[in-house]
Amino acid sequence: MIVSATDVTRRYGTGEATVDALRGVSVAFPPGQFTAIMGPSGSGKSTLMHILAGLDRPTEGSVVIDGTEIVGLDDAALTQLRRDKLGFIFQSFNLLPVLTAEENILLPLSIAGRKPDKAWVDTLIATVGLGDRLTHRPAELSGGQQQRVAVARALASRPAVVFADEPTGNLDSKTSDEVLQLLRRSVDEFGQTIVMVTHDPESAKIADRLLVLSDGLLAEDSAGVAPTPAAGAAPTADAGA
Ligand code: ADP
Repeated sequence: MIVSATDVTRRYGTGEATVDALRGVSVAFPPGQFTAIMGPSGSGKSTLMHILAGLDRPTEGSVVIDGTEIVGLDDAALTQLRRDKLGFIFQSFNLLPVLTAEENILLPLSIAGRKPDKAWVDTLIATVGLGDRLTHRPAELSGGQQQRVAVARALASRPAVVFADEPTGNLDSKTSDEVLQLLRRSVDEFGQTIVMVTHDPESAKIADRLLVLSDGLLAEDSAGVAPTPAAGAAPTADAGA
């Protein structure tokens, strides 16, 4: 498993303001799988993704990313692990406006002090179809082109996992489809592992596996791994204990 979470809870606030955003989630992601996470607003999708990606810490439970238990790592170690092992795609693209498309794609590598693998970067640029836009700044690109730059940026370091948070939330349906197909290709052709939060059932169809969160619990997992029983769910058969 590339990423696994075990018995993860996340509580915000104290006293009357306490919110249990995650109430005990266990889930694991094998390499080369494209997973979509859905669920109503407030069900804990962002919280789960942030915890899986080491951007937030669980109140209880364990998270292992590519063999490293991240609970207990200090901030510097966590930052380095994110830089070395993870790629991120956001709804709002998050490109740096002063940099060209190519510079944006290479930025995470340069921050990490790593030399770009030229052949790989060329492959990515060809795959995302940006060969003739490399010297353009984000403001000179359409939303779809900007998100394709962001996809190439996320893949450039060959991360263990790419986390995508509503990656098509700001795109029209045709452009969304292009970006989703691009993510799909990165899984099929490069063996990329992707975890994507989306509220759009159409977008979720591109994934291999669908997780549904409900009120801080895993209510559904199309991979068939026994989910945590959700509140109100039918009682499961006694496991023969
Ligand atoms: P989703 O992404 O499914 O909309 P979130 O993970 O953002 O859900 O939120 C889950 C719950 O946790 C919600 O009730 C939300 O209000 C609460 N929550 C999220 N972030 C915070 C925070 N920083 N402080 C307090 N409550 C929060």
